[in-house]
Amino acid sequence: NAQFAMKRAKQSGRVEVYQPGEVSAARRRFSLETELRRAIDRDELSLAFQPLINLETNSVSGFEALARWIHPDHGPIPPSEFIPVAEESGLIVPLGRWALDATARTLAEWDRRTGRVLPVYAGVNVSAVQLQRDDVAAGVAGALGANGLDGSRLTLELTESAIISDPDRAGRVLTALKMLDARIAMDDFGTGYSNLAYLQKLPIDILKIDRSFVTGMLADRDSIAIVRAVLSLADALGMKTTAEGIETVELARTLAALGCSTGQGYYFAKPLSADDALDYLLARAA
Ligand code: C2E
Ligand code: MG
Ligand code: MG
Ligand code: MG
Repeated sequence: NAQFAMKRAKQSGRVEVYQPGEVSAARRRFSLETELRRAIDRDELSLAFQPLINLETNSVSGFEALARWIHPDHGPIPPSEFIPVAEESGLIVPLGRWALDATARTLAEWDRRTGRVLPVYAGVNVSAVQLQRDDVAAGVAGALGANGLDGSRLTLELTESAIISDPDRAGRVLTALKMLDARIAMDDFGTGYSNLAYLQKLPIDILKIDRSFVTGMLADRDSIAIVRAVLSLADALGMKTTAEGIETVELARTLAALGCSTGQGYYFAKPLSADDALDYLLARAA
């Protein structure tokens, strides 16, 4: 809500809300955690879908599902604020289950509306805490089964931290996910711990090159060197690559020329509502 100015104290997970024109008596505090719990219960979260573009054919390969929270009084609260709170409080488990179910429901709904099995997948983010505390493979199996979807329609996006914290558990979960035919993407690749041994041991299908390297790659030699290195590493290991944060046609062209498989970024599209994402897919296929 525009009349509120929000100041959030990230460390404490609390939000302070000020109403302009009123003094400290009007100052309210609320706990982001309590509000988030309520939002999950009341189904106030939604998903936005950002297109993932095949850089060779320029067609839509899939979409990344991104959680959105529009608080009824306080307006949009970005994932960079509520995901950490969800992780600290354990709410990431129900939130993550909801994201899987809602993504699978949306894919099934698109199939139903178009009368065919659409050749697109959805990427769902899985946090390290969720991987630790929940049976993610069972959650994926449930979401697929309930919606009659093949496992190849889902890609689970994990960060390096999810693997480093418990490599044995991560290995078991990833193996179970592969048995469902789902794919695994390493998200924000290059920003975590640079222990590359796991790339050899785990069934990873896609490396997602972090936006921080993509943004600067045309201006900055170090960034382009890192991007080239990730592309050649992925190629040598038989993995696909997705570049995040493509904001210009130059970046799209350069990454395509370097052999990057897939692109994601504002140049193609911002995260869209489920309806707009389906329209985008159909328009781009036409
Ligand atoms: P991520 O998984 O790396 O997702 C990509 C983020 O980059 C998204 O931010 C997306 O909107 C943004 N982005 C995409 N293209 C561009 C671009 O061209 N320029 C710029 N400046 N940004 C771009 P978003 O939606 O704010 O999400 C932030 C992070 O929150 C995600 O990063 C992910 O780590 C986390 N997140 C979002 N939804 C979920 C969820 O359902 N579960 C979990 N565990 N994490 C989630
Ligand atoms: Mg992601
Ligand atoms: Mg990412
Ligand atoms: Mg990122």
